[in-house]
Amino acid sequence: MSAMLLKKEKWPEFVEKLAGKKLWAPGADGDAMRFAPVTEGETPALDFNNTRVPPKEALFPQTETMYRFQLGAEEMEEPQLEDETVLLGVRPCDARAMTIVEKLFRWDIDDPYYVKRRELVTVVGLACSDPGLNCFCTSVGGGPASTEGLDLLMVDLGDNYLLEALTEKGETLLESAGDLLEKADSDAVKEKEKLVLEAEKKIKREVKTEGVPEGLPGLWEDPLWQNVSASCLGCGTCTYLCPTCHCFDIQDETEGFESRRCRMWDSCMFGEYTLHTSGHNPRPTRRERTRNRISHKYSYYVDKFDVIACVGCGRCINLCPVNIDIVEILKKVEEAL
Ligand code: SF4
Ligand code: SF4
Repeated sequence: MSAMLLKKEKWPEFVEKLAGKKLWAPGADGDAMRFAPVTEGETPALDFNNTRVPPKEALFPQTETMYRFQLGAEEMEEPQLEDETVLLGVRPCDARAMTIVEKLFRWDIDDPYYVKRRELVTVVGLACSDPGLNCFCTSVGGGPASTEGLDLLMVDLGDNYLLEALTEKGETLLESAGDLLEKADSDAVKEKEKLVLEAEKKIKREVKTEGVPEGLPGLWEDPLWQNVSASCLGCGTCTYLCPTCHCFDIQDETEGFESRRCRMWDSCMFGEYTLHTSGHNPRPTRRERTRNRISHKYSYYVDKFDVIACVGCGRCINLCPVNIDIVEILKKVEEAL
């Protein structure tokens, strides 16, 4: 299907057309934005820069029940997975992150929870016109209108949204709202291209990745790790809010004879993450944990899956309470190589 236009005044009707499916969109959560289910009759506004919490939680919840069981019983109760869901207004970096995380969850065996949700989700992206101060998506394979991981891309043209279906799911969604749309003419397509170029030019931060995946293991004992981690508090913000971080812990919770096995986000920046029951910890200080965070994203993941596990969203820079900056760390890596 070619590019289509949706007049902004028809946005509420467009959202209504999706009412048969579960909708998630960015909404205010205190002073932050995060993705949450849209309630009936609500029209999500798309006037945000990016959410503080990435939409990864729609596919990989912060805590999820894997199954329930009763002590002494032979049967387990498996969870109902979600219904068909549309994620509205996903920024291109966060959609790319889903494709990166998916490589892990489809690696040696398919993770049934993640894979099932991914199949049920249609991802509607919103191109960035005003990238944030710490965005560097263009350095790591993305861009303000990158389409990887998206089923449909929306671009804000002022009075209209330009909509481009990228997959069958995206086409189905556009067809369901066909009476609200009109075909985009060549002027609208040119306008989109101009806006995307302007948005790219607004991205001021940059990392150089050439030689980094191969070079990082050689910097194992380099003093740079001590320097860049000296002020780290070990709070885990940089990993919890990272769209590509995917570590989890699995625990059983029991009350009487009723139990559930659940998994929840974990963070390699926590001291207990690698603590053995013997008391030995192979990453005993923040130096080793920071080295691992950077090496995992920029070397180990490349080695295993041929892609950098960072999409340059800038969240870990914006939200680190002591201003530890991954772009600055990568500059030091580059200098040390
Ligand atoms: S957000 Fe900053 S202080 Fe917290 S663990 Fe990450 S680097 Fe350390
Ligand atoms: S490491 Fe930082 S910049 Fe890269 S994807 Fe994660 S939060 Fe975004």
